[in-house]
Amino acid sequence: KKLGIALVGLGSYSTYQLAPALLDTEHCYLAGIVTGTPEKEQVWTSKYNIPKENIYNYDNFDDIADNKAIDIVYVVLPNSMHADFSIRAAKAGKHVICEKPMAINVEECDAIIQACEENNVKLGIGYRLHSEPYTQEVKRLVKEKAFGSINYISADAGYRSMSDPDQWRLNKKLSGGGALMNMGVYAIQSVIYGTGENPISVAAQEYSTRPGYFKDTDETITAQFEFESGAVGNIMTSHNVRANRLFASCERGWFELDPASTYIPLAGRTSQGELNFPQESQQKLQMDDFAKHILLNTINLVPGEMGKRDMMIVEAIYESISKDGQKVKLNFTPNYGFAG
Ligand code: NAD
Repeated sequence: KKLGIALVGLGSYSTYQLAPALLDTEHCYLAGIVTGTPEKEQVWTSKYNIPKENIYNYDNFDDIADNKAIDIVYVVLPNSMHADFSIRAAKAGKHVICEKPMAINVEECDAIIQACEENNVKLGIGYRLHSEPYTQEVKRLVKEKAFGSINYISADAGYRSMSDPDQWRLNKKLSGGGALMNMGVYAIQSVIYGTGENPISVAAQEYSTRPGYFKDTDETITAQFEFESGAVGNIMTSHNVRANRLFASCERGWFELDPASTYIPLAGRTSQGELNFPQESQQKLQMDDFAKHILLNTINLVPGEMGKRDMMIVEAIYESISKDGQKVKLNFTPNYGFAG
């Protein structure tokens, strides 16, 4: 059986990544769409052969509860809308994939997790890299201590935003924050799977060089982490700096991914040589992994707690910045938010 997915929000990620990937998935397929723009219905219907009864808008979305063709609702809206639609999907009895960042604060993450638990549906976050072979290799190297313990981990994730200053990503009400909410979660993820540990403290700094463009949201943030093992970490995330890298210096060598979180193709090397893995659509792998979690009871690679943990770190980073870089303690149980 293939599970039916309904995409909520037909913006660029749904249009250019998720929908095309769903033509190749083995355990799920594009069964429905939810859009606030009626003109998109015709285009999507003819391109993806979606029956009229599987098309919803934001107002009649809750009727999806009665539609047996839809098993999974995938929320691909601006960040401030993730909680509302994830919770409504759970209440409709549908499994949920919620894009990153999971929401715009920890309270909303809790509400999503609770709604999914209460309605007995599965929840996954759109962290596609956990299904991606270079990232999986990093996780293996860390788990097996291939280069001994990690002494230093650094992760950069940013791009140079130049387009429409009115876009939702620069509007705090819709995005919850700037670079940190958008690209920063990749860097946070990198230092965690690159050490295999949750951090125990963070100290952070914010920089603004184009205040006229970034009126409402953070432009560039750096943050330093401490880990129980003694590893230290550093991240840089930006809407003004192009960067996409993970680097770890270990007891007996090093490993690196560069790029570390773009769609395709990732590349990497270690002190022992180049890494070389087949390139496949990350979104295809990600959605199939989530469908397998439902159909075959395989491990959930991207549980809701992972999204919540990262949001707790995001909030700690903003707190540190508000206290002029003061160190903020983090108190996670060792495996909190890891795949489970
Ligand atoms: P986008 O701007 O291209 O699309 C947003 C969609 O939301 C549009 O269809 C728009 O019509 C709709 N929308 C509904 N209400 C809106 C409002 N009030 N303002 C603006 N748009 C509104 O954005 P996107 O790049 O598709 O991102 C959507 C989500 O997916 C975000 O949460 C983003 O972080 C996430 N995303 C994840 C990845 C990934 O690699 N996992 C990549 C890109 C985006």
